[in-house]
Amino acid sequence: MNDLIETDTPDDIPSDAPLPPGLYIVATPIGNLGDLSPRAASILSRAETIAVEDSRVTAKLLNRIGVKRAMTPYHDHNADKVRPGLIERMGRSAVALVSDAGTPLISDPGYKLVRDARAAGHDVTTIPGPCAAIAALTLAGLPTDRFFFLGFLPSKEKARADAIAEVAAIRATLIFYESGPRLGAMLAALHDSLGNRDAAVVREITKTYEEAVTGTLSALAERYAEQGPKGEIVVVVGPPGEAPVASAADADALLIEALKRLPAAKAAGEVAKATGLPRRDLYVRATALKGED
Ligand code: SAM
Repeated sequence: MNDLIETDTPDDIPSDAPLPPGLYIVATPIGNLGDLSPRAASILSRAETIAVEDSRVTAKLLNRIGVKRAMTPYHDHNADKVRPGLIERMGRSAVALVSDAGTPLISDPGYKLVRDARAAGHDVTTIPGPCAAIAALTLAGLPTDRFFFLGFLPSKEKARADAIAEVAAIRATLIFYESGPRLGAMLAALHDSLGNRDAAVVREITKTYEEAVTGTLSALAERYAEQGPKGEIVVVVGPPGEAPVASAADADALLIEALKRLPAAKAAGEVAKATGLPRRDLYVRATALKGED
């Protein structure tokens, strides 16, 4: 086991001393306030400026640790305007960056602040902690040796299908953020493009109704087709199988037979179910086969 390391990071100085100037990236809880680390609480109580996404959300957290401090909004809509001022301030005082929940910069604003802070020669320190993507990965029961984080998929159907197709061949577990109302359509799109992989819908992590529902993409798409669940959601999808479930020749034979009875889209759906191959690819092949008639 590794020994715990005595650090000489700036926050090791006595808790009543001011922090050295610089940027402090502070992870905050994703539900359970007990997950705020002592180090994160210490930084937030000593930073001169706290840059936040939504001051109402962060006020609750600061209230919990007894910190009263003016907050500087830093979000997608004002970041370009506010950033130069924050960069200037961190040259002479400590600026902490938090997001509404979890790790800043992960599907949240912040990377340009880090980039510009470095360019200006300021110290940048991270205070790591909760992140929904990583927490979901630990609950999904899917391979963790290689994983690929995609955040939120586009909501428009074509853009979403294109984004999924782009990663279909990657031999890694895939992690997505999603909302309840979009979940059914998203799972159906994943099934269409990736085939019938194992997956998990992980919800409300660290909160009262935390759950991880596991199953194949087709079973999960069916389960959530009518109504998405409430709360915050991460979808985790296992990597493609080692070998294709059926060969291209097998798929062609099945498609040719199905096309005698069904239009191309339905034939592709039927063969996808039978073989586990992606319905999107089968549809393209089915239309090509129809053209060869
Ligand atoms: N920076 C955050 C992090 O480190 O996880 C993510 C911010 S992103 C704007 C918010 C999304 O993260 C939610 O829509 C949801 O998909 C996911 N999320 C956040 N908290 C969650 C929780 N407690 N359980 C499940 N998913 C969560």
